[in-house]
Amino acid sequence: TTTHHYQYTPWHVNVGGKVPLGLKKKSQRILVTGGAGFVGSHLVDRLMERGDSVIVVDNFFTGRKDNLGHHFGNPRFELIRHDVVEPILLEVDQIYHLACPASPVHYKYNPVKTIISFLFMAHKTNVVGTLNMLGLAKRVGARFLLTSTSEVYGDPLQHPQVETYWGNVNPIGADVLGLTLPLSVIESCQGDSLLKSTAYMLVDNPTSCMCITASKKVKKNDIEYCALIGVLVHMCPMAGVRSCYDEGKRTAETLAMDYHRGLGIEVRIARIFNTYGPRMCIDDGRVVSNFVAQALRKEPLTVYGDGKQTRSFQYVSDLVEGLMRLMEGDHVGPFNLGNPGEFTMLELAQVVQETIDPNAKIEFRPNTEDDPHKRKPDITKAKELLGWEPTVSLRKGLPLMVEDFRQRVFSDQKDSSG
Ligand code: NAD
Ligand code: UDP
Ligand code: UDP
Repeated sequence: TTTHHYQYTPWHVNVGGKVPLGLKKKSQRILVTGGAGFVGSHLVDRLMERGDSVIVVDNFFTGRKDNLGHHFGNPRFELIRHDVVEPILLEVDQIYHLACPASPVHYKYNPVKTIISFLFMAHKTNVVGTLNMLGLAKRVGARFLLTSTSEVYGDPLQHPQVETYWGNVNPIGADVLGLTLPLSVIESCQGDSLLKSTAYMLVDNPTSCMCITASKKVKKNDIEYCALIGVLVHMCPMAGVRSCYDEGKRTAETLAMDYHRGLGIEVRIARIFNTYGPRMCIDDGRVVSNFVAQALRKEPLTVYGDGKQTRSFQYVSDLVEGLMRLMEGDHVGPFNLGNPGEFTMLELAQVVQETIDPNAKIEFRPNTEDDPHKRKPDITKAKELLGWEPTVSLRKGLPLMVEDFRQRVFSDQKDSSG
């Protein structure tokens, strides 16, 4: 069981100003796409707790049924395995649209499917999936909330980022095929000469990857090629998938605004900043999950670059509270939802050491060129219009995910040794 540190606001409390205080609104039918994922499953917990009927639509690309197991058998809960890229007919009052392949995980087990589908799916899910869910909202008159991302700001030239900032994104930038590989990636191909030579070719000439693909030597669907891209995306998650993810979310925001302005659909847009907590994917290469899993496994904490780049980390219960206030409120947004507490990666490593293992070592690794130097939300707008701000600091939140990680890290080890 997971520790919840929710600031529980009963749903009938007048958050957005529409429902008179004390008047009980009838329980709602709510669709959560991507509800089997990290954020989605915590949101589902809150909605179920509030007494709503919840339908989760998820294709389990990066989510897990386990995250929702405790609701199975509840008549108010329904889980549908479905890809939002395909149309679907449902009757609901609200749609929280979270479905998005957030990171290319599990490539170790099925590199071909995961990596190839990841590259195409990330963009396709954000564009076609969002269009379908907006179409659904239009047909049934539901309110629609999009979980966008701070990555729409790209490598920001303004700090901290205000919602009115348009961002600094290269639409054709840093694609997997045009990436300069850090040496550590090549070293991780050791023992596999084909992979290693492919990696060296990539370093010498980034476009050679396409040549390799075209020459029949390594076809795009070959396991070696995919494993290489897998290593690459895994080692440099930032660079590898940057433009398909950023641009997909930017398009999704545009689509939501089109449906709102053109067709009068009630939409809400959240721009989520780095979030952590229990049920977070263990091996998707994000810094918090990496450090926590590394400390538990007694491995060195891998700091990329000099570790002076900053991020702001939000605990998941704060985010869920913000999403629900946004949905129930009267403002379209976009709203930044994040914790303004800013930390360097070295400071984060220190908090992980203090929390898990004071003897954990730090190991520096080369960083990718386009890794944003700083990221920190300006949440003035959410504070003013939603009455929301985070309440869980990094030092309070980090310990809350350790038990969940410990269980999963060690059950994974049992799985792989057996
Ligand atoms: P997650 O990967 O844990 O959850 C995403 C869920 O969507 C998974 O359960 C996955 O299986 C599902 N999914 C993916 N493609 C799908 C498809 N085509 N059809 C149906 N389901 C599909 O990621 P998360 O961290 O919980 O993120 C949730 C949302 O919040 C995403 O939209 C993400 O872009 C956004 N976000 C998260 C963060 C963060 O720090 N966690 C930051 C910015 C934005
Ligand atoms: N859609 C859906 N479920 C619905 C209604 C629509 O999946 O209940 C999909 C539909 O298949 C279409 C998309 O949403 O691909 C956009 O629908 P909309 O009606 O806005 O556009 P249109 O179909 O007129 O192009
Ligand atoms: N990072 C790191 N070690 C890791 C993973 C990531 O130092 O093991 C750094 C990464 O270079 C980036 C920061 O941590 O500067 C945050 O990375 P993450 O992928 O978690 O989030 P994002 O960059 O998308 O904000």
